[in-house]
Amino acid sequence: MQKLKILLLAVLVLVLTSTSTGSVDALGLGSVSHPAEAPVLRHEDENQPPEAISDEADEAKVVYLTFADGPDPNWTPQILQILDRYHARATFYMIGRNANSHPELTRMIAERNQTIAVHGYNHLDLAHVDFQTFYLEVNDTAEAILESLKEEPNLESQYGKCLRPPYGSTSEYLYRNASEMDYAVSMWNIDTKDWQQLDPEEILNNVLKGLEPGKVILMHDGGQEREKTVLGLQLVLHELIMRGYEVLPYCTNEGQAIQNP
Ligand SMILES: [Zn+2]
Repeated sequence: MQKLKILLLAVLVLVLTSTSTGSVDALGLGSVSHPAEAPVLRHEDENQPPEAISDEADEAKVVYLTFADGPDPNWTPQILQILDRYHARATFYMIGRNANSHPELTRMIAERNQTIAVHGYNHLDLAHVDFQTFYLEVNDTAEAILESLKEEPNLESQYGKCLRPPYGSTSEYLYRNASEMDYAVSMWNIDTKDWQQLDPEEILNNVLKGLEPGKVILMHDGGQEREKTVLGLQLVLHELIMRGYEVLPYCTNEGQAIQNP
């Protein structure tokens, strides 16, 4: 009797063991691979950007980041480094004479997969100049940019035919002249007001006040001291990524991402 009990127990154990490990095999589905990988706790490296934690990360939450008044040997490389760190992309609207003085910066921007467009050769108010002046301001800037990229022709696709009018000054005449040259006019929705030397936290607040998908953010990588822009940019990118935004260039070789509002 005792032997029978032991035997029954052994059979029971065998049955239980086989059903708990081989159920899928038993259904003829082949060997079982591991179910979903066990979740691994990730320890954030403090120097790395945070992962997106928004529930809406799947939605197309895009904002466009733009810089004007560069390139500048002091500030542009610092800004590029921050963009890299946060996997953010932006468009740099260049002053032609700066591009002419610093072809290496134009190349650096293009090599980092950022895009380049035109701000004007001498930072003139282009809303009220004759067509010849307009043409030279735009065309000479484009030439300075393309000349810088000549050694690496594959980088020329980082340049787009978009114009950010200096001072944001526009007129019907400017739109007509731009379209005559086949340029899109790139305005913005969110002015960080970094040109007023605001503190980094104020720069962040200015972005958050107007933040919505599809907005275009204005910042500056040249023209004056940009320490606060550099610090503010880190706050802005950290927050944008936390909120599930993708940061893309407004102007590319294929044109402007969206029409001006
Ligand atoms: Zn400007």
